[in-house]
Amino acid sequence: MRCLSLAAALACSVAVALAADTDPWKLDDKLKIARPEDTKDAESVKPPEGAVVLFDGKDFSKWVKRDGKSEVKLALKDGALEGAKGHGDIITKDKFGGSFKLHVEFRVPYEPGGSGQGRGNSGVYVQGRYEVQVLDSYGLKSGKNDCAAIYNVAAPKTNECKAPTIWQSYDIDFTAPKFENGKKTEPAKMTVHHNGVKVHDDVAIPVDNTTAGLGGDPATPGPILLQDHGHPVQYRNIWLLPAK
Ligand code: MG
Repeated sequence: MRCLSLAAALACSVAVALAADTDPWKLDDKLKIARPEDTKDAESVKPPEGAVVLFDGKDFSKWVKRDGKSEVKLALKDGALEGAKGHGDIITKDKFGGSFKLHVEFRVPYEPGGSGQGRGNSGVYVQGRYEVQVLDSYGLKSGKNDCAAIYNVAAPKTNECKAPTIWQSYDIDFTAPKFENGKKTEPAKMTVHHNGVKVHDDVAIPVDNTTAGLGGDPATPGPILLQDHGHPVQYRNIWLLPAK
């Protein structure tokens, strides 16, 4: 019996050591890196004059939970916020309409045990309705639900993903749909740069809400939403520049 319990204790300590070894912010040599720049952070771009700073790493003063009122309880780490499974989506208190540029920096954890939609999944929803997917799609042939896709609407023209754990950026030029007498006359449109490369060029979005978006009246302004899809995706330096 004594032997058994010793074996159990040993197995337990090995398990603890293994768990401590799987830091989701560290790569290992099992991940094949295609280009040296894939492990170099995207340039962090400071908010230009006239921009509305939505997140500067210090607090969640501009944000609430998806219900529009509950306090955000995510961790702040070195100027970034980190998603937590079960916390729920967060949205900006302010709502935005018309045309604007949204800048977001993010990084996805290294989750080699996952695949497909189960690695580093989150998302940036413009007006709470149109998702630019966040996912670990490093090295894949990108489809309509991969990183930088307008979810289920358009795949990015090229896969510009950096390796997991590396900072990336989205610059989203958005124009809200236009309505006359309650009828849509122009769809929402998006141009997206992923890590500085244009991956969507003025794409017309034929739907008024992508999967798991806030929906609501598409003729009205909406918040920026960051999705909780159960992965510790990090975000930093989020700002929005209204069109003049
Ligand atoms: Mg997503």
